Amino acid sequence: MTPFDHPDFDGHEEVLFCHDRASGLQAIIAVHDTRLGPALGGCRMQPYPDPTAALGDVLRLARAMTYKAALAGLDLGGGKSVILGDPARDKTPARLEAMGRFVEGLGGRYWVAEDAGIGVADVRVMARATRWAAGIERRRDPTGRWVDADPSPATAWGVFRGIEAALAVVYGDPALRGRRVAVQGLGQVGARLAAHLARAGARLWVCDRRARRAAVLARRLGAEVVAPEAIFTVPVDVFAPCALGGVIDARTAETLRCRIVAGAANNPLTDADVAERLAARGIVFVPDFAINAGGIVNIAAAAAGLDAAGVQRRIEAIGDTVRRILERAAAEGRTPLAVAEALARARLEAAQRNGPRTS
Ligand code: NAD
Repeated sequence: MTPFDHPDFDGHEEVLFCHDRASGLQAIIAVHDTRLGPALGGCRMQPYPDPTAALGDVLRLARAMTYKAALAGLDLGGGKSVILGDPARDKTPARLEAMGRFVEGLGGRYWVAEDAGIGVADVRVMARATRWAAGIERRRDPTGRWVDADPSPATAWGVFRGIEAALAVVYGDPALRGRRVAVQGLGQVGARLAAHLARAGARLWVCDRRARRAAVLARRLGAEVVAPEAIFTVPVDVFAPCALGGVIDARTAETLRCRIVAGAANNPLTDADVAERLAARGIVFVPDFAINAGGIVNIAAAAAGLDAAGVQRRIEAIGDTVRRILERAAAEGRTPLAVAEALARARLEAAQRNGPRTS
C-alpha cells in the first residue's frame, strides 16, 4: 500500500521512509502541513505489528499535530515520526544518530522531539546529527538543579484552564469548588492535573493501573480511589482521561455519567461517531488537540521563536480557545470536535497564500 492509498492519508505534504543500512534503523517521518511554519512533532518508538500500522499511526499523529499547533496560535505545522522497534531492545545510539541525519535531510521542514518510547536524552543523541531537534534544552528546577525540559506541567495547566472554560460554558461558572471530577491515569500529566483540581476545591475520584500510585496520591489529595474499569461510571461533572488513547468507544460512551469529557489523553475517542454519540447524550467533549496543547507550546519555544512570556500567554489562552469552540458548537448545533477542526482548517487556509514554509 502506498501512503496515497492509506485511509489515514490526508493530503500530507511529505512522507519519508527511512532505512539506514549500517545501523538497521527503520523509520517513517510524516510532514502533514507546513502552511503555518515548519512541522513540529515527537518521535515515537514502538514495536508495530507491521509497517502499515506504523504508517497509519504516523499519518494520524502528524495530522493531529497540525490542528494542535494551529489552534494553539503557534506559527508551526504538524509532523510526527515513528521508529519501528522495541525501545527496550532495539534503541541504539547509531540508530538515533541515523534518525537525526534523516531529520537534518529535511532541511528544517520537520523538527523532532520526544514522544512515547523516545526520551529527551534520545533526542539529544539525534541532535548530534541535526539542528532541528526541539525540547532538549536543560533548565534549572526550583532547587537550582539542571533538569531536562518536561512538557507535562504545561500540559496539566492547560488542561486545568480548559476544564474551567468548559465548566463556564456548561454551568455558567468556571469554579471547581464542589465540582466532582474523575481523573483516569495519574502519570506525568494526570497526577499534576489532580493536584490543581484538588487545590481548587474539586471532589476527586481517581484511578491508575498502578494501584499503589493511585493510593498514595489519593491520600495526599483527599481523593477517592476507584478501580480502573469503574472510573467511567462514577457520577461526576467532569471525566478527565489522562491515560491512553481510544478509551471511549461506542459502548463506553453509553455508560459515562458525566456532563463534560476533558483531559490530556491524545485521541481518547475511537472515532468521530463517538463524538456524535456523546453530543446526543448531552455530554460535552472537549477536543484533545485543543485542550492538551500546553506541552507542545512549551517545547515549541525554540522552533516558533517564543520567549517565556509568549509561551505562558499561549498556555493560558487554551481556556479561551476551549470556550470559543464550545460556545460555537452549542450555537451551531455541531460537535465541538467538528468546530475545532473547522477553526484549525480556517487558520491553515488563511495562511495558504504563503505556500509551504521552512525555518
Ligand atoms: P504517563 O505514561 O506518565 O501516564 C499515564 C498513566 O496512565 C500511567 O500512570 C499509567 O499507569 C496509567 N494508565 C494506563 N492505562 C490505564 C488505564 N486503563 N486505567 C488507568 N490508568 C491507566 O503519560 P503522561 O505523560 O501523563 O500522558 C498522559 C496522556 O496524555 C497520554 O495519552 C499522552 O499521550 C497525553 N499527552 C501527554 C502530554 C505530556 O505533556 N506528557 C502532552 C499531550 C498529550
